[in-house]
Amino acid sequence: NQVIHLKNRPKGKPELEDFEFVEEKKPQAADGEMLLKTKYVSVDPYLRGRMRDEESYIPPFQLNEPLESGIIAEVVESKNPNFEKGDFVNGMLDWKEYQTATGNGLNKVDPDKASLSAYLGILGLTGLTAYISLEHIGKLQEGETLLVSGASGAVGSTVGQIGKIKGCRVVGIAGTDEKIKLMKEKFGFDHGINYKTIDDMNQAVAKACPDGVDVYFDNVGGEILDAAMQNINKDGRVINCGAISLYNMTETPKGPRYEGIMVKKTVRMQGFLVRDHVREFGPATQQLAQWLSADKLTYEETIVEGFKNIPQAFLDLFEGKNKGKMVVKV
Ligand code: NDP
Repeated sequence: NQVIHLKNRPKGKPELEDFEFVEEKKPQAADGEMLLKTKYVSVDPYLRGRMRDEESYIPPFQLNEPLESGIIAEVVESKNPNFEKGDFVNGMLDWKEYQTATGNGLNKVDPDKASLSAYLGILGLTGLTAYISLEHIGKLQEGETLLVSGASGAVGSTVGQIGKIKGCRVVGIAGTDEKIKLMKEKFGFDHGINYKTIDDMNQAVAKACPDGVDVYFDNVGGEILDAAMQNINKDGRVINCGAISLYNMTETPKGPRYEGIMVKKTVRMQGFLVRDHVREFGPATQQLAQWLSADKLTYEETIVEGFKNIPQAFLDLFEGKNKGKMVVKV
């Protein structure tokens, strides 16, 4: 039974050597437990934060202990009356091929209603993050301009589509021309900016958003956030969802200051954590599922095969190798 441990706390960019594969005996389910076989593993940018030995909203990973993330697993044996052999469950589980669990914190998922991997993406925390943060902070109004970074990724591509459902003009920022094409052709964005080939982000945003930016959905932070702030409108809203451009930095870079813009334009900028909104997950998932079945929403996945490739799939997020949700199929 293969298990993946955190071997070193990465300095800067994580590397394969920071992970260790350990062979363990396959566990056995005790009374009240079940034996789970890992099927799909979610790799996410926020896991980088848990590799630091820092107090945060979620405890850090421990060295020489298994990593964990959102996982879809199959119940292969059950001594728990609430779960049957053949059920599929979703929850935070260890990076192990097999593990036992009591069922606490796990939800059953129905493979007939959606593909199993979708429960880690559009019908999981990805979709919930996009939808709930837009409801709480974005407050999109028809005709407004929504600018999204990380726009061809899991959260960003969902945000842009919800923007279109709400009747906004949607502009996305991503790192390849192929991603810009995907964004426009599959997700219906009005315009895309490739931040890797543009010289002047301020100008590129100004040109793509001739009426300014009403809502900026930030997945990346750094210079792209700076450019968005230079183009923000009166009463603009900025959703700080993530800052992946900073996750591997050893020092926080000094950037331009926004105080003047924030006051003059009465901008509201607010951080968001999806885990603070668990009570809204039920109705939000229903809304996302309804848009999916009505073909108002679609999704993209990058599915990497094999348990041994989990660390590499995680590292590839920082190289932009994924389109849509990055998932490992075991
Ligand atoms: P994505 O699917 O968006 O994958 C990450 C993407 O980030 C890559 O594909 C890459 O695309 C882009 N990227 C990587 N490095 C950089 C960089 N230096 N500058 C700009 N873009 C970069 O991941 P998710 O959708 O899962 O997550 C998106 C963001 O949302 C993350 O910041 C994450 O931490 C955050 N998040 C926050 C949650 C919350 O509750 N607050 C919940 C879930 C996610 P490209 O080719 O375009 O560079």
